[in-house]
Amino acid sequence: MIHYNLKCNNDHTFNSWFDSVDAFDKLEKTKMLSCPVCGSDEIKRAIMSPQVSSSKTKQAVSLSKPASEIEKKISDARKKIESESENVGKNFATEARAMHEGDSPVPVSYTHLTLPTIYSV
Ligand SMILES: [Zn+2]
Repeated sequence: MIHYNLKCNNDHTFNSWFDSVDAFDKLEKTKMLSCPVCGSDEIKRAIMSPQVSSSKTKQAVSLSKPASEIEKKISDARKKIESESENVGKNFATEARAMHEGDSPVPVSYTHLTLPTIYSV
C-alpha cells in the first residue's frame, strides 16, 4: 500500500491509499480519481515523499471524529435529517409510495437501508 497526498485543479487537497504506484497511475490515466470536495477528475499527486504502509508505520486514527470539515458537514447533515424525520426502516418503499400518492401523514422519511436493498424491496 502506498499513501499519496492529492490535489485537484481547484486546489483542494486530500489523501488516499493505493495498492501500488501502478494502481495510482492506472486510476489517474483513466480519470477514475475524483476530488471529494468538487468532483473534479483533474487529480495530481501533491509534492510529498510517499509513505509505504507497514505494521511499524501505522498510526492510530480516530474514526469517531470527523477527519475534515467536509466530513463534519456530512455528519451534521445526517444528524439533522435523523432528528427531523422518522426512520421507517424496511417500510421505506411503502412509505415513500404513500407519501408520493398523498396517503401518508409522515412528512419526511428516511431509512438506513442501502440503495441495492431499497431497489429490491
Ligand atoms: Zn476539488
